[in-house]
Amino acid sequence: MNADARDDPHPSSAKAQLARHGLLPKRSLGQNFLADAGLCNKIATVACPVLQGNVLEIGAGMGALTAPLLARCNKVVAVETDPDLSRVLEERFAAERATGQLTLIQADVRELDLPALLGAMDQPRTLAGNLPYNLSGLLLRRAVDAGSSVERCVFLLQLEVVERLCAAPDTASYGALSVFAQAVYAPKRAFIVKRGAFYPQPGVDSAVVSLEPLPSAAPLSDEFSLFVRAAFEKRRKTLRNAWRGVLGLTLEQLEHVAKESNVDLGARGETLGVADFQRVAASARGLRGGGR
Ligand code: SAM
Repeated sequence: MNADARDDPHPSSAKAQLARHGLLPKRSLGQNFLADAGLCNKIATVACPVLQGNVLEIGAGMGALTAPLLARCNKVVAVETDPDLSRVLEERFAAERATGQLTLIQADVRELDLPALLGAMDQPRTLAGNLPYNLSGLLLRRAVDAGSSVERCVFLLQLEVVERLCAAPDTASYGALSVFAQAVYAPKRAFIVKRGAFYPQPGVDSAVVSLEPLPSAAPLSDEFSLFVRAAFEKRRKTLRNAWRGVLGLTLEQLEHVAKESNVDLGARGETLGVADFQRVAASARGLRGGGR
């Protein structure tokens, strides 16, 4: 096996593309490129199950996913922070930019107002991307906030993160991320992507997750967020201890809230589902006299 074949299972794709532009992958930007066109098509189909959708793609890289998205979608808005790769994208997709089918935004996604960008796009809208690993937590939080602006989010993430998003109560992967995501979305693991599908190859496997907003989802209240965080910050403690001092409630008030919400304060946070946290938050809000 020559060096190319060992480092990149698809040497005609990502590695060769970078070399053509005199570039190397930037680890600091989480650049693990998809190097399998069949897989990119499969992800684009999950992102845009019906033809003619609109996609906001985060971290477009050299366009591995952008190309099949353009083949399926009316319009793609692609964000990429790396100026070198933005030039590659401009060159590769000059025709689609000229027709207006593709808008490229060279920016740090952390600086962008995603709900506003999505709101300016026609429906149906998907937020999608093979996300840089170092930003996946932050982008998932932003995706939770954008729940009412999208038909779905489709992300390629570390398998372990996808397991946390989809986890059921009382399992090892269940935590605050599971509750926040499941309060807004119905997360579904679409398929696993082995590490060999990327160049350079990461140390872990990944998976594609599809997040469809729940019809009943409302913006998360401050009370809900505080009770969820406290329950999992002190994971090994009973809720009676983990929730001590949350919202300034006295123990007596906390017991009242728990009773009204039918939650056992002797249990641990990981046994509660989204609806339990919602009842606790609503009861505490009622006790404190109203507003969100
Ligand atoms: N979509 C391409 C693919 O699948 O081959 C690249 C995916 S790579 C995992 C993540 C991409 O996100 C890289 O191109 C990287 O430069 C870009 N990126 C990293 N941090 C970013 C940020 N803060 N804002 C926008 N893009 C970012």
